[in-house]
Amino acid sequence: MPVQASIESLHDLDLPTLRSRLAEDGVKPVHAAALWRWMYREDGSDLTAAAFLPPLRRWLDAGNTSWTLDRPEIVQELVSSDGLTRKFLLRLEDGHTIETVLMGYDGRHTACISTQVGCAMGCVFCATGQGGFVRHLRAGEIVSQVLLARRMLKKADPTKRLRNLVLMGMGEPLHNYDATMRALDIVSDDRGLSIGPAHIAISTVGVVPGILRMAKESRPYRLAVSLHGASEEERAALVPVSRRWSLTELIDACREYGRITGKRIFFEWTLIEGKNDSIDTAERLICLLEGIDAHMNLIPLNPTDGFEGCQSQNEAALQFQATLRRTRLPCTFRQRRGIDVAAGCGMLRARNRKRRTEAEAGA
Ligand code: SAH
Ligand code: SF4
Repeated sequence: MPVQASIESLHDLDLPTLRSRLAEDGVKPVHAAALWRWMYREDGSDLTAAAFLPPLRRWLDAGNTSWTLDRPEIVQELVSSDGLTRKFLLRLEDGHTIETVLMGYDGRHTACISTQVGCAMGCVFCATGQGGFVRHLRAGEIVSQVLLARRMLKKADPTKRLRNLVLMGMGEPLHNYDATMRALDIVSDDRGLSIGPAHIAISTVGVVPGILRMAKESRPYRLAVSLHGASEEERAALVPVSRRWSLTELIDACREYGRITGKRIFFEWTLIEGKNDSIDTAERLICLLEGIDAHMNLIPLNPTDGFEGCQSQNEAALQFQATLRRTRLPCTFRQRRGIDVAAGCGMLRARNRKRRTEAEAGA
């Protein structure tokens, strides 16, 4: 019986792995470097058309692996009214959809990418959490979002460079640890996409083992932790995964992360009226973070269909910030970027799914 060729994406491989895969078949490392440059410097898209040197051409065409590239299809693009945020709904090979956002503020261009289809963590105010978990993304599917964002930016203005990356789209990056870290190794490689590790932020809901692993592995990225509550009850009401890794365990892990890495931690706090925006909460938060090199990011709540809570009133939000600042805890408001393009995590996908379900019900 003929051996069936397995299908693999070249975007799943970091450079050392690509080199060793070629070496196993007797192809020289210099060809790995050429293929890498073609993929990540030149944004090569067609493996059949590319003019590779014969050894590489033979490698691509022969063997038991059928090589592909990840090129998700843009299903929908929305642009905010100020033109500074563009949101893409992307269709993957298997038909599932994810979101990627490209933001350009103060001359800085940032891609916000997804790490999973859906999310298992179930935060009550989050559109992605409300839709449940579907599957992890492969490293190549994560990398391809960065390639797409860079391509879209270049198309709009060839002089602009994509320099920043935030893992704040759909999914929980530390629940998909290996694929996420491999993808970040690929996009930060300075022979390719070359996004500086200090310009990459990983946002986590508080997967404690993942935070500790990042510290032990000396991952060079910025860490952001979504906190949203300053007592066990307050947090668990918004972030159900807090029952698995308690607030106490999470804060201990953050201290340990700080001790090992010496790095600042960015905390995120979605302000919700009457749930987590009181002065009392702010004061408890101050005690909780004592001794941690922390920066607080306050985020206004984006409304979602599955959550009835409201965004905090301006005055409450300002008082919350002032209370934290009084103790010299740096605390800033995240700009509400592109709410008119459903820029909250998972909102565009949720809207599309709802429309499809309604259309099917009506058919
Ligand atoms: N899973 C990771 C990263 C993706 S969510 C995490 O939770 O950190 C990125 C950020 O968006 C998180 O801080 C999350 O709490 C916030 N977020 C999600 N839905 C939101 C909403 N409807 N309004 C405001 N912030 C939201
Ligand atoms: Fe998942 Fe983050 Fe949304 Fe929570 S906020 S459900 S962890 S994507």
